[in-house]
Amino acid sequence: MAQDEFYGPEEAMPAEDRERHYHEKVSQQVQFAYENSPEVKERMDAAGVKPSQVRTTRDLELIPFLSRDGLIERQGKNPPFGGLLAMPMESLYKVLYSPGPFYIPVSSPEYARPALRFLHAAGLRKGDAVICSLPSLFAAGATIEDALSLAGMVAIPAGSGNTELQINMIHDIGIKGYVGTPSFLMNLVKKSDELGYDFRKEFQLRSAVVSAEPLLPEVRNTLQQDYGIRVTNALGVGTATWMGFECREQAGFHMLEEAFVEIVDPETGKQLGPGEVGAMVLTGLNDNPAFPIIRYMTGDLSSLTEEPCPCGRSSMRLTGIMGRVGDSVKVRALYLTPAQVNTVALRFPVISRCQVVIGREGYRDEMVFNIELTDDTLDREQFSSELQSSFQDACRLRIDKINFVPEGTIPEGYKVIVDERSWEVRR
Ligand SMILES: [Zn+2]
Repeated sequence: MAQDEFYGPEEAMPAEDRERHYHEKVSQQVQFAYENSPEVKERMDAAGVKPSQVRTTRDLELIPFLSRDGLIERQGKNPPFGGLLAMPMESLYKVLYSPGPFYIPVSSPEYARPALRFLHAAGLRKGDAVICSLPSLFAAGATIEDALSLAGMVAIPAGSGNTELQINMIHDIGIKGYVGTPSFLMNLVKKSDELGYDFRKEFQLRSAVVSAEPLLPEVRNTLQQDYGIRVTNALGVGTATWMGFECREQAGFHMLEEAFVEIVDPETGKQLGPGEVGAMVLTGLNDNPAFPIIRYMTGDLSSLTEEPCPCGRSSMRLTGIMGRVGDSVKVRALYLTPAQVNTVALRFPVISRCQVVIGREGYRDEMVFNIELTDDTLDREQFSSELQSSFQDACRLRIDKINFVPEGTIPEGYKVIVDERSWEVRR
């Protein structure tokens, strides 16, 4: 792999070094946060946890989460920072606003450095002109503008809206990179068609970093195949901290060296193993000492994979956002999300609608998969066995029964997962 692939050699560090890196950073960060952030001290004291007990990433399990709602509530009661400020106000570099809504104090431009990893992974380099179409009023846009200036790139702050103006700017300035939402980039390229431009010939825009909303496969395909723009997805969270980014393989989000993301059971707070779906919990590692983030519960579901990536980065990859904690159901101790079911259904174009119904048979969860097919002549036995193995592969759960139902049985506006279990205690 070419040396230029990585922003820094640490992206390819051996697994043992990486483990040690996270253990050390996590324990230092917890110690620092306990000493400087009243919120973290309060949370740890309430749980009777001392910073010296947190020596490895596994020990994070001892510390209760900070939820987004909890953060908002704290700042509402005690504005502006709700006890999360860990340095004197007058020495701050900036205060950012996140549509959470909450405020983020920032200590120095260094807080934006982690973003340089994905700008680099997207193929953008020093001197490249990059348009930022995220509003600078919000933390995500502000972070990108600071990151562009740290990287020595030429920033064009644009915010959202003014499609025609922005597409003309991209053309006139010879802009090479875009950072913003995928849907706004689609608007921009469509506008270029409308204005009579030949995008591939008349524009230099070849790289886009997208974030802040789901990237649909068809949107990515259109941008990459029809317009020649390579799309790199980055996974952020409202606290001006990034969790991961895609490499050129576009197969999951490499965890950053500056953040430790746990996948946990939201009820118990225990960490889950690779492949298991659970809630993403973020601990920021020292890029913004003004606002130490320890065990921030994002409320989004994901899973981790340890499989080596052909790009050479040694970090684990997050498989992307698979739903919200509230939308998922727990079946035989594993989380099942609508996104997982949809992923399986998309592999079989012959499925027009499908629905998973969870029931209870004795002390065991029973899972029935109702399927509407577009083709009645299909070999159902063969299909069922392919569906079963695809489902197990994606969801790690076995379907008990596949039901072929006539078209129209599953109603308009249906839920992908229906939980019919009754949790009443029977006497
Ligand atoms: Zn990779």
